Amino acid sequence: MIYCNLKITLINPDDEKQFQEESWYRMKVLLVEDDHNIVETISLALQMRWPEAKLVYTHLGESGVDLVQGEFPDVVILDLGLPDISGFEVLKRIRLFSSVPIIILTVKSEEADIVKGLEWGADDYMIKPFRQLELLARLRTLTRRQDHTGTTLPLICEPLRFDPSTRELYSGDKEISLTSTEGHILYHLMRNAGHVVTHSSLAEAVWGELYDGAVNSLRVHIRRLREKLEADPGHPKLIRTKAGVGYFMPRPSQRS
Ligand code: CA
Repeated sequence: MIYCNLKITLINPDDEKQFQEESWYRMKVLLVEDDHNIVETISLALQMRWPEAKLVYTHLGESGVDLVQGEFPDVVILDLGLPDISGFEVLKRIRLFSSVPIIILTVKSEEADIVKGLEWGADDYMIKPFRQLELLARLRTLTRRQDHTGTTLPLICEPLRFDPSTRELYSGDKEISLTSTEGHILYHLMRNAGHVVTHSSLAEAVWGELYDGAVNSLRVHIRRLREKLEADPGHPKLIRTKAGVGYFMPRPSQRS
């Protein structure tokens, strides 16, 4: 598994204003591709044209599925011919748990493959060789579509209902106001309800990196969130701690 961080920005976690002025969160692109030249081409294209995006990539299909689970990408670029499992298999496995936008990027140009890709849940299909600007345009369209049409939104984990585009959070009928950082944290926990979100994934999603002291900051923000959301913050039911690992929101059926 290879990580490629195109942009590392140090952000003071207390500086919430900066986040409010930026887009809702840092865009993350996951590339599952075994051709190193293509990885390089896409890295450079993103660096030049879309520097606020961060690229995570792997040349293996299995890792690609894991990275969707662990890295919460906003969009996935998926090759079909991979060294371990086929891209179709990757697509199928991702769709079991995630509706992240996926664009297939492949040399397979036969109509049967295109139809299969789209039927199995890809959002778009591009054939190699491809034009970089066209790929970026399509990525933007896919991520915008997700932002504004709310295909995965609002997030609901009873009794919470959260609309990240407006940042409105309701617990039942009651509206709850959140700071920007609390909103980021809750967004990632709700988006992964039923799964443990590790400290590092959460810190990276919220602040762009796991800086020194991030785990402590998370603890403080989680405590505040619990005070706002939980009936008994001392015995939380909605946001649970996985000691030494991270936090998770059990689905309503998993709550004890
Ligand atoms: Ca390939």
